[in-house]
Amino acid sequence: MSLTRHFLNCRRNLINIYSSSFSTSAINLQAVQQATGTKRICIVGAGPAGFYAAQYLLKQLSDCAVDIVEKLPVPFGLVRFGVAPDHPEVKNVINTFTKTAENPRLRFFGNVTLGTDVTLQELRERYHAVLLTYGADQDRELQLENEEQAHVLSARQFVAWYNGLPGAEQLQPDLNGRDVTIVGQGNVAVDVARMLLTPIDSLKLTDTTDYALQALAESKVERVHLVGRRGPLQAAFTIKELREMLKLPNVETCWRPQDFTGIEAQVGKLQRPRKRLTELMLKSIGEQSSRKVGISNNKQFLPIFLRAPKSIGQRQMEFSITKLRENAAVVTEETESLPSDLILRSIGYKSSCADAGINFDTQRGHVCNQQGRVLKDNKAQLTEPEPGLYVAGWLATGPTGVILTTMNVAFSVAKTICDDMAANVIDTTSVKPGLAPDNRRIVTWEGWQRIDKHETEAGKPMGKPREKIVSIPELLRIAGV
Ligand code: FAD
Ligand code: NAP
Repeated sequence: MSLTRHFLNCRRNLINIYSSSFSTSAINLQAVQQATGTKRICIVGAGPAGFYAAQYLLKQLSDCAVDIVEKLPVPFGLVRFGVAPDHPEVKNVINTFTKTAENPRLRFFGNVTLGTDVTLQELRERYHAVLLTYGADQDRELQLENEEQAHVLSARQFVAWYNGLPGAEQLQPDLNGRDVTIVGQGNVAVDVARMLLTPIDSLKLTDTTDYALQALAESKVERVHLVGRRGPLQAAFTIKELREMLKLPNVETCWRPQDFTGIEAQVGKLQRPRKRLTELMLKSIGEQSSRKVGISNNKQFLPIFLRAPKSIGQRQMEFSITKLRENAAVVTEETESLPSDLILRSIGYKSSCADAGINFDTQRGHVCNQQGRVLKDNKAQLTEPEPGLYVAGWLATGPTGVILTTMNVAFSVAKTICDDMAANVIDTTSVKPGLAPDNRRIVTWEGWQRIDKHETEAGKPMGKPREKIVSIPELLRIAGV
């Protein structure tokens, strides 16, 4: 089906199609006039925040039409490129997103980047409301000398590598050394540790990219250090993820009992999730004393607390020994070096400013907003919201929270959009031109379905749920654009 026909099929309420005077550098866009009364909303970013917001808007606003603009030729953001391949159950949210995408009032424009192919101003001119949900595609840095060296990578790059983010296949992490040091103790750090230590035969049945499976099969890594600057009571990983590590076949978890001095006495005062996590760590330490650690051929997972990154050497990393003061890590004069053939910093993702028109807080790494309403430029000390411009997901909250958290924020911001529409904060009477793809570079939902089918078919012979395609030209070819 041609794109124009697809477009007409999806949107029977269109009354006019004009040629555009708004063509941009990479994509030629047409201006489209739509039936009066239709509230047109553009969502930028097809991750969980974008899809959950779309779901809410389509349900609550019977006269709205939603366009999702996505940088990649494929949807789902970190559900496809972040969530670990051995957690396929988490990816079931894709079924809900697919249902939303099949609503005739939603259009998917894949391979369209805000800031390159289309500007915020153009979107603002063409939609009654714009919701930014383009996530966090950078990572925080340690700000240490030698951080640029080849043996220092971010967990974000490593995750993107095993998950097949286009471009990440070039990474080639060196897995020829025995020791990997992961800086940070969040769930991303644990995901990465698990991917490095899981027996390869289990990973072969996941959608881990083929090249990553080959590299992991040849990996010489035996010990993964998971280093936190604070103590066991401040660890950012959660119980389910720790339990998985403790159950990994042929891997022993080796704690440092001295890190837990005085912890047992505090357990009773802790909130339930933290209490259960701490009890699990203490139980595991108890079991460790009854087995002889380090004498088997097992690989080792080594959580280490109270160590703040200090400097990066060739095959080692130096840490300052810290003490806790009111839950904060205070560095001391003492240091410890850990053998580190490969260093992965896992200290959080970071959003970027995709378009100069966005009021972006570069220090905090998110879009300035109040409950999802984007604030006017704060340079002029204005704090009132920009009518019709919203933000949700990690771009609004910073890079924390699981999919459920992201869903709740997205629903809440979508409700704010509905409220603002009802209160006439957004002018919905004017007839504005909308986006319409008129060339062959945009991936529609049908295009994505072709990619999806191709990938799942390609995975079948190996028993994998899919074999991801990582080349953008190849994705576009399969999408038929
Ligand atoms: P994203 O998922 O990042 O989506 C943003 C989308 O915007 C992407 O598709 C991106 O390509 C697109 N985009 C970026 N720039 C542009 C642009 N300029 N123009 C147009 N589009 C653009 N949560 C769980 O519940 N369970 C898990 O197991 C889990 N595992 C995780 C593993 C990792 C490694 C990470 C990092 C996170 C994990 N999370 C997990 C958290 C979960 O992924 C996030 O809560 C959620 O993805 C955030 O959604 P989002 O829509 O804000 O951002
Ligand atoms: P995170 O949970 O915020 O953890 C970041 C870690 O980095 C913390 O241990 C933090 O320590 C440390 N850190 C930050 N700055 C540091 C510095 N300068 N030096 C040393 N350490 C530093 O972030 P994340 O692991 O990237 O995860 C992001 C979100 O995705 C989380 O909400 C997570 O739960 C979610 N996620 C979920 C899953 C899952 O459900 N399986 C999987 C992956 C991710 P401090 O606490 O001391 O700052």
